[in-house]
Amino acid sequence: MQHSVSPVGIVRSCFKEKFAIPRQPRLAPAARGVLELLPPFDQGEAVQGLEQVSHVWLLFLFHQALEDTPRLKVRPPRLGGNKSMGVFATRATHRPNGIGQSVVRLDGIAPGRLLLSGIDLLDGTPVLDIKPYVPYADCIEDARNQMASDAPQAIAVQWGESALSQAREHALRLAEPLVELIEQCLAQDPRPAYQVPSPERVYGVKFWDVQVRWHYPHPALIEVLEVASEG
Ligand code: SAM
Repeated sequence: MQHSVSPVGIVRSCFKEKFAIPRQPRLAPAARGVLELLPPFDQGEAVQGLEQVSHVWLLFLFHQALEDTPRLKVRPPRLGGNKSMGVFATRATHRPNGIGQSVVRLDGIAPGRLLLSGIDLLDGTPVLDIKPYVPYADCIEDARNQMASDAPQAIAVQWGESALSQAREHALRLAEPLVELIEQCLAQDPRPAYQVPSPERVYGVKFWDVQVRWHYPHPALIEVLEVASEG
């Protein structure tokens, strides 16, 4: 059976590249974005009542991980990237039909737009459906997942000499919680689990319109080196 689907909206996200996006939503509450609804869903009727809801499920396309041939097994980075699992036992991005699901905080509703936070979505992600979170049905107290029982262990993040004031300046300009976003995302330790970084190696990622650069003075500590406008 074939059935085609079309996006109901596009996410404008703080995350401009896949690197350093948290593995799951709510790990970085300062990760904000706007879901721009596409016609005819942008006229208000389709979201009437959603103002009574604190969180929404987004079903979306991993548009930058779509593949023609479905994989049956994947190597989740969380397991070090060298252990393969059945794709349906993981939340991997490379999956049949390329569908992701995230429960995110609904901070507000503006004409044709949903204001979101705690997202794990790349800028430009097409959203296929929006559903209200239903606590009595969606929150399962005794549920277990032995492969992903806890959030990733956070590591310490410290600020280099000028980096913090640079981040504060850009935060004011963007009117976004950029300092918290950088701290929350880097605390997830974005580097691939198998990589042992030398202090000389500098990592970088683009949040909003700024380049963030950091290094590891030692494997359990990140130091933010620079927060600079692109270009
Ligand atoms: N919460 C979702 C789920 O469980 O389906 C996503 C989990 S997946 C492990 C999260 C990762 O997907 C992020 O770290 C990011 O690198 C990647 N990602 C987010 N949006 C994407 C997109 N539009 N295309 C490809 N990869 C994306």
